[in-house]
Order: sequence, then structure tokens, then C-alpha cells
Amino acid sequence: MKYKAFLIKYAEIGTKGKNRYVFEDVLCRQIKEHVAALGEFVIRREYGRIFLEAESDYDYEDVIAELKKVFGIVGICPVVVEERAEYEAIKQKSVAFMKECYGEKPLTFKVNARRSDKSFPMKSMEINSEIGHELLENLPNLTVDVHHPDVILNIEVRKQVYLYSATIKGAGGLPVGTNGKAMLLLSGGIDSPVAGYMISKRGVELEAVYFNAPPYTSERAKQKVVDLARIVSGFSGTIRLHIVNFTDIQLAIYEKCPHEELTIIMRRYMMKIAEALAEKNKCQALITGESIGQVASQTMHSLACTNEVCRMPVFRPCIGMDKQEIVDISEMIDTYETSILPYEDCCTIFVAKHPVTKPVLEIIKRSEEKLSDVIEELMEKALESVEVVEARAEDLMK
Ligand code: ATP
Ligand code: MG
Repeated sequence: MKYKAFLIKYAEIGTKGKNRYVFEDVLCRQIKEHVAALGEFVIRREYGRIFLEAESDYDYEDVIAELKKVFGIVGICPVVVEERAEYEAIKQKSVAFMKECYGEKPLTFKVNARRSDKSFPMKSMEINSEIGHELLENLPNLTVDVHHPDVILNIEVRKQVYLYSATIKGAGGLPVGTNGKAMLLLSGGIDSPVAGYMISKRGVELEAVYFNAPPYTSERAKQKVVDLARIVSGFSGTIRLHIVNFTDIQLAIYEKCPHEELTIIMRRYMMKIAEALAEKNKCQALITGESIGQVASQTMHSLACTNEVCRMPVFRPCIGMDKQEIVDISEMIDTYETSILPYEDCCTIFVAKHPVTKPVLEIIKRSEEKLSDVIEELMEKALESVEVVEARAEDLMK
């Protein structure tokens, strides 16, 4: 059966009072952008509802896959259109449609008709009961329950007739662009892409920063991070990825600071540079993939030490999650397979055998003083030589 349109259901943005129109505008813009490459579509808005209508051929699976990536959508109802607004035609289409949607599954249902075209000779209540009867007669798996039906057949009579019933689950959240922008510290691991996805789901635009350590890390490790940014951008929209050459800073730390403190000091400089980039690019917060206790650098003491360098809020949406929970999300958003590719990371190369798990801030700060004659210049150099890649989902296969 051909779906001519999709009814877009959205929940949370419906509750935002006057801002509702702003949210709807952003949502419509996001929907348009997501399906732009898949065919000709127009958006029709009426009575707080959004219809995406196809004006050309399109691939159904592709459009659904894309709509499922638009934050702010809670449900997608494929709509079939009956061109003839006549009872006979509606009847036939309704039976065929319900059969296609639900097969032989035993379900309770009700019909919910709405007559926008008042010249149609039957009232909504009549349509409900007549079509209800037809369905009962033709589909023995269905029984009526007008109070708590499993499924509803919606029939909207206009110049044409719109039928829709099944709802495909959407991503939820808020449309990207309704809640500012944040800088994601994106490594090649499993956690940080998930963290970016989760914050973006709350309507936040993303930029990202990756700390690269050539020649200790390879071009392939960098490409992996670009690919991860591209996958996440399928949800969040284009991500400007700032690639920082971190080698000289790491070497200086390695040379001058106690080895068991390497990771924590390195993480502090990462956060400092990320914050500088975030400020420069008008971001309001940082995002990391940290999770309490996952590794030595993520104990409560370590997190407190790392956090101390930042003035901006640092969002860590994975903070209370077990690894498996993070993995489950990474599989759902399709970053997992890329994240587990075995390329070296700057953190894994300069790593101590016995890192401190309970760093003391004063001691760390004293160790950092050993860098005082070089670090300002090295940080400036790192910031000046940033390479920016615009990560877009459509470039993934290239
Ligand atoms: P991930 O799976 O996200 O790499 P992880 O479990 O490997 O996390 P760490 O290596 O301790 O944990 O990193 C913690 C967080 O610091 C990461 O989630 C990420 O936000 C940030 N981070 C670590 N390495 C880098 C890097 N090379 N570039 C940018 N951010 C990084
Ligand atoms: Mg990592």
C-alpha cells in the first residue's frame, strides 16, 4: 500500500506554552532537512498537527529511517490517501488498510472519523459506526472497544480521505536548535558518541573536539573519529569537529610530570583547551563520555580534579550508566561497530602502569607547575593549529 503522507506526532514540545510555535518551526525545519535528499516533500501544519506529504516517489524505508532520527518526534503514522471521498471507496480502503497494518492479529479497535469537508453526506458518528461494522464483518480478528482500543483507525474526510492507524516510535526528545550548543569531547571510544547523542536529544546543537597525537596516533584513528562524528550528525545535524594536535603537550607532561599523574594532568589540559574552543565557538557547555568508576581517571576524586579547571558546565550523560547500558545505546545509534575498531588513542599511548586513583588537587597543581615555562605557549600553538572538519552524515560512505 502506498503511503502518501506521514502524520508526525510530537509530545513534549506541545507543552511549552507560547514557545510552542518556535518549537514547531524548528521541528518542521529539522524534518525538511532530514528528508531533503529523499524526494519532494511538503509540510502541512494544522490544528497543532504536522503532516509530511510526498510530492514525488520515495523509498518508504529510507524516509522512516530518517524520520526516526529527528529529535522531537515521538511517533510517525504512515497515511494512505483515498482520492475519492465516497463511502464505498472509503469502506474498501479501510478494510484493506487495517488488514495490511495488523494482519490476523487479534486486536480491539475503534474508528475515529473527522469530517473537515462538511459537504460529505455522512456525519463523523455515522462513518464511525458504518466503517466499524464493515471491519467487524471482514476482519474476524478485530473486536470493538470504544473506551480502551488497542488500535484506532483514523479517517479524515477532506477533498480526499486520509487514513492512518499504526504509529512507528520516534526518537523523542526536543528538536535540535531549541536549546543552544555544546562542545563534545569526542574520542574514538564507545562512550563519548553516546554522550553527544544524549545531549543533542535535548535539542542541543553539537560541535566536537578531538585530541590527536600524531605520529603516535595514526591517520586511521583520526578518520574513525570523523566517522563517529558523521554518524552522530545523522541525529544532531552537521558537527564542526575541531582536531587539536595534542602531541607536544603530551610529550611535555610525559617529560616533566610524575607518570602516575599523567592521565589526570592530560585530562585537565584537554578540558582547558576544549573550554577555550567552546567559548570561541559560542558553546554554552562541554560534554564528555565519563562514567563514575569506569577507569582510574573517572573515580570521584579524578573527576573532581578534572572538573576543577572548567568554568563552564560539563555534562556527562553517561555518568551513572553501566558499560552495557552505554553499549546498548551505541548499538541503537549505530556507533558501536566504529567505536570498537582497534586504533590507538592518545590516552592509551601515554599511559602509566599505576595511575593514581585518588589524586589530590594540590599535589596535581604542584606537578603542573613544572610545566609553567612551556605550557602557555604550547596551548596557544595547539589552539592556533586546530583543523576543522565539517562532519555530515551524507559523507559517511565517501
Ligand atoms: P570513550 O569511550 O568516550 O573514549 P573512555 O571510557 O575511553 O571514553 P577516557 O579515555 O577516560 O574514557 O575518556 C573520558 C572522556 O574524555 C571521553 O568520554 C571523552 O569525552 C574525553 N576524551 C578522552 N580522550 C579524548 C580524545 N582523544 N579526544 C577528545 N576527547 C577525549
Ligand atoms: Mg577513550
